[in-house]
Amino acid sequence: MTIQTYQGSCHCGAVRYEVDLDLAAGSGRCNCSICTKTRYWGTVVKPDAFRLQLGEDALTRYPFGSGVVEHLFCRHCGVKSFGRGDLEVLGGRYYSVNLACLDGVEPAVLSDIPIRYANGRDNDWFSEPAVTRHL
Ligand SMILES: [Zn+2]
Repeated sequence: MTIQTYQGSCHCGAVRYEVDLDLAAGSGRCNCSICTKTRYWGTVVKPDAFRLQLGEDALTRYPFGSGVVEHLFCRHCGVKSFGRGDLEVLGGRYYSVNLACLDGVEPAVLSDIPIRYANGRDNDWFSEPAVTRHL
């Protein structure tokens, strides 16, 4: 396990953060309605591993579903660089970082991050969907 500190940002740079991550710990892709349409590629961290450095005022909240997950995007460029929420199955308060928004990580490193697929479309989050290649 190697925890490193990474920088992340939206496309325009209004939202910037720092996050402590072990990329080998894996990531998730999901077939629920919003992950499908945003092609979200996330990994979950505890709140103390995430530091928003810039852009709280640039974040817009998209109220969706039950409201326990805060779907956020930059109001300038539209990019969803992270989200946050409070879910018991994830151990309480958490941040979900969009790995596609990390800055300066080599493609070869990104391509080595393990991916777990979740069948969110059928509300069966801990099972893999039958088809995943498009996610
Ligand atoms: Zn932006």
